[in-house]
Amino acid sequence: MKKPKFQKPLGMHDILPYEQKYFRKVYDAVQDIAEFYSFGKIDTPVLESAELFSKGIGLGTDIVQKEMYHLKTKGGDALALRPEGTAPIVRAYIEHGMINRPQPVKLYYYSPFFRHERPQAGRYRQFWQFGFEILGEENPIVDAQIIQIFYGLLMDLGLKNISIEINSIGDKECRPAYRRSLVRYLKSNAESLCANCKKRTKENPLRVLDCKEEKCRPVINGAPQMIDSLCPECKEHFKKVLEYLDEIELPYTLEPHLVRGLDYYTRTVFEFFSSEEVTENKKRLALGGGGRYDYLIRQLGGRDVTGIGGAFGVERIVQLIKKEGDLSSKRKKTKIFLAQLGDLAKRKSLRLAEEFRKTKILIDESFGKDSLKNQLARASRIGAEYTVIIGQKEALEDTAIIRNMKSGKQETVKFKEVVDKIKKLSKKR
Ligand code: AMP
Repeated sequence: MKKPKFQKPLGMHDILPYEQKYFRKVYDAVQDIAEFYSFGKIDTPVLESAELFSKGIGLGTDIVQKEMYHLKTKGGDALALRPEGTAPIVRAYIEHGMINRPQPVKLYYYSPFFRHERPQAGRYRQFWQFGFEILGEENPIVDAQIIQIFYGLLMDLGLKNISIEINSIGDKECRPAYRRSLVRYLKSNAESLCANCKKRTKENPLRVLDCKEEKCRPVINGAPQMIDSLCPECKEHFKKVLEYLDEIELPYTLEPHLVRGLDYYTRTVFEFFSSEEVTENKKRLALGGGGRYDYLIRQLGGRDVTGIGGAFGVERIVQLIKKEGDLSSKRKKTKIFLAQLGDLAKRKSLRLAEEFRKTKILIDESFGKDSLKNQLARASRIGAEYTVIIGQKEALEDTAIIRNMKSGKQETVKFKEVVDKIKKLSKKR
């Protein structure tokens, strides 16, 4: 057949009517889980100031250096087609004074993004991503919760054999010393590195750990590990994240060389893969990833507030749904608030959140807060019908209090019976 005169731009694709059902499925699942965990949707412009990304993602990253689409307007403004979602969300958080709202602010997006990459299977120049961000909370429980949300979403989509890789890349206290020891090591192994990594050793040495070239593998495998250089605060934070993940039994593995391709990350970083591999030239492609960005908000002109989030590629998920996913849909109803006091109660609440999610009962929480009064105030504000309270005593006794928010009546039930009890109560309504 003769080639038509006009074709879609290289690396971009049409989503035709018979494919929409897969994309719709992902969209619905994202919306459902966002509503379940009380995330608000945000849409930001496709174009942003180019400087937002060079400052936010980092000048030395591939995304900014090689992949960003630039545009000079007639008025002389330097804009860029957004290559990722976190920097625009942080920009909006600062610009709209969201710091003055109750923290944390939980936002999600579902939008097209643009990167001028070499087009390959699973790698496009315009692709869809959805992401979840929690701004204004530094408690490690939200790191675990973000990972739990993405995992739960992939389960909702019927995907199997999902694995999670996790690492901590420290903060400004401990990373500089690690960076120095890494550079020393890389310099002494320079002859075994690809040309790109030789350059990266000078400009952005952590990126070497992210190199996909076979040649660099042995050097990377023998490289010093960040986890051995973490300062006590980062170590404690990471330990807590892992404890929370253990509590909810998520299948993660520690990946000591995971660094991610953007400069704004601190402490926790993670990536998700499927064993039903999405590959490009036999290289494993991630379904999504993310991490903590404790300095980004300040770096972009905001206050000293921390954040965590992640983003997933819709095309890669659709590719998996076509192979092994589930196109049927389930939906949800009653709203419950989970309140907790103390660390053990926090862990139990995290587990409870997962059980509620499986039964499609809507919940909300403010895991980062420790005052019961504040938590109950939030429960009333969101119109929760019941609040499940786990205090220190209940956590030890393996019980929970169920409070009817309208009548104020409370009853204590066994921890393992909470979900059934709420199910019964919501049937009675
Ligand atoms: P990143 O933040 O760069 O790790 O991107 C997060 C996720 O977006 C990746 O794990 C992919 O699923 C998806 N993604 C990133 N770049 C592309 C691309 N060029 N084409 C399709 N999906 C992509």
